[in-house]
Amino acid sequence: MPTIEDFTKEQKIAYFSMEIGLTDDIPTFSGGLGILAGDTIKSACDLNLPYVAVTLIYHKGYFRQEVDEAGNQKEQPVIWDPSKIMTKSSRKVSVTIERRTVYIQPWIYFVASLRGHYLPVIFLDTNLPENAEQDRNLTDFLYGFDVTYRIKQEMILGIGGARALKALGFNIRKYHMNEGHASFLTLELLHETKKDIEAVWDESLVWNFDAVKEKCVFTTHTPVEAGHDKFKYELYNQVMGDYFPEKVMRRLAGDKELNVTMLALNLTNYVNGVAKKHGEVSQDMFPGYKINAITNGVHSYTWTCERFKRLFDKYIPGWANEPETFVRVNAIPSAELWSTHQDAKKELIDLVNQKHNANMDYDTLTIGFARRFATYKRATLLFKDLARLEKICANKVQFIFAGKAHPADNGGKDLIRRIHAEAKRFKGKIKIVFMENYRMELALKLVSGVDVWLNTPLRPLEASGTSGMKATHNGVMNFSVLDGWWIEGHIENVTGWSIGPAPVELQANSEMDAIDAEDLYNKLEKVVIPTYYNEREKWIQMMKDTIGKNAYYFNTHRMLRRYVTEAYLR
Ligand SMILES: *Cc1c(COP(=O)(O)O)cnc(C)c1O
Repeated sequence: MPTIEDFTKEQKIAYFSMEIGLTDDIPTFSGGLGILAGDTIKSACDLNLPYVAVTLIYHKGYFRQEVDEAGNQKEQPVIWDPSKIMTKSSRKVSVTIERRTVYIQPWIYFVASLRGHYLPVIFLDTNLPENAEQDRNLTDFLYGFDVTYRIKQEMILGIGGARALKALGFNIRKYHMNEGHASFLTLELLHETKKDIEAVWDESLVWNFDAVKEKCVFTTHTPVEAGHDKFKYELYNQVMGDYFPEKVMRRLAGDKELNVTMLALNLTNYVNGVAKKHGEVSQDMFPGYKINAITNGVHSYTWTCERFKRLFDKYIPGWANEPETFVRVNAIPSAELWSTHQDAKKELIDLVNQKHNANMDYDTLTIGFARRFATYKRATLLFKDLARLEKICANKVQFIFAGKAHPADNGGKDLIRRIHAEAKRFKGKIKIVFMENYRMELALKLVSGVDVWLNTPLRPLEASGTSGMKATHNGVMNFSVLDGWWIEGHIENVTGWSIGPAPVELQANSEMDAIDAEDLYNKLEKVVIPTYYNEREKWIQMMKDTIGKNAYYFNTHRMLRRYVTEAYLR
């Protein structure tokens, strides 16, 4: 094992994220944002980039999901022991919260690459005996409690994180904020670069904004105004006190409320959205700022199932460190590709049957839908017209769902109940199963074990989406609304199928449900089902094109190289 001193000699890029999903054993993520962070870090390690990552430790995780017969979600804490997988650093730091000193313990975890490189990830922890009782739980829950809890966590991440890097001896070339949660780090950098002048007539002159901008890269992930964290200045003053003058803060982060996205936008020279379309939507939302676009990816090695790994090793050696080699996918014999897929499918179907007594079979077209149960993802769009669904799918299609709703999201929880109700209604006609506790392990089983990956977000709210990219690494086609990455990945009848019209809008239009559902039913009936059952050869060629044209591109190796050339080395 390396030590932290092995990493402090050369300049690093510091990647800050409120959530990081590296493995289920470190349950510090809730969904796509965290998985993206984890995949980014893994690719950085594979590519041997000078990288260090910072996040919070969340002793109680996000939550473990239990779902009862009626579809009611219960949240249980995840019990895990960091000391089994990471080590405490002796360099504690502190931040001042509500005028109390809050001590922060950095834990160091090393990600290892296939080629023997390591990359340090720093998990910040306030559960220390020297802290006041109310501060000890600040790193217990991801996205827990209220705005006060959130602003304190963002202080620990941004300010505490920057101080931890310094205390550990890191020399940082660029700070990359993965979403606005980390933007308080810009304030810490302003303090570090403060000019030594007496500016009596305008105190803002002491702050060297340009020096900070030069050091910061910001990736935004949220295509709706309401999704950006905002804090009242009353709260800011109560929690952050005189850490940074309110007058200057109002200029940087908004006069009415402290908007962390505005703060990040104003203190970076490079901003990007996470897909081309999301770049445009963000540009529309933030006129006056130049918003670039770097489309997300997934870590190929992590998101390819064991059976496909072996298949790729045989026909496309080197694929994991150079996903561009997927261009050679036609070298794989069709029969072998199909039997590999069927083996992966059997594994999933056996699991589903064993857990749910679902009596699903290996030869029925199987469609998967799994992601966070945020309402904009419209998990129940499939059930818009029940008679139609039954007519099209009875005895022809089986469905597997999974996903967690945020504990405070009653709308999301309703969707889980609705799926359970529909599963009962269609009993004996269409097999529908909801698998509880969606996590990385289950995600890989699903994206590799189904035949088709379904996604039905309300446009343009899916900034990127990444689970569909995971499916493509296992030869599973996407059947999705044209939003996020799929606008770039979709070639009709080649890499998969679209749902609904061309994506022209920059803002959500809630009238889309009927139109999108109509197209979903039509295409399922006239194209997807007949191709699966009657044109197996064409189907297998589509599986190859999915790998050769989608997995080839939508991976974090390609994504990170673009961050290097367009953001980090600018
Ligand atoms: C990939 C992944 C996600 C993100 O899925 P999207 O379809 O992009 O929303 C969420 N949760 C888990 C556990 C994942 O593996």
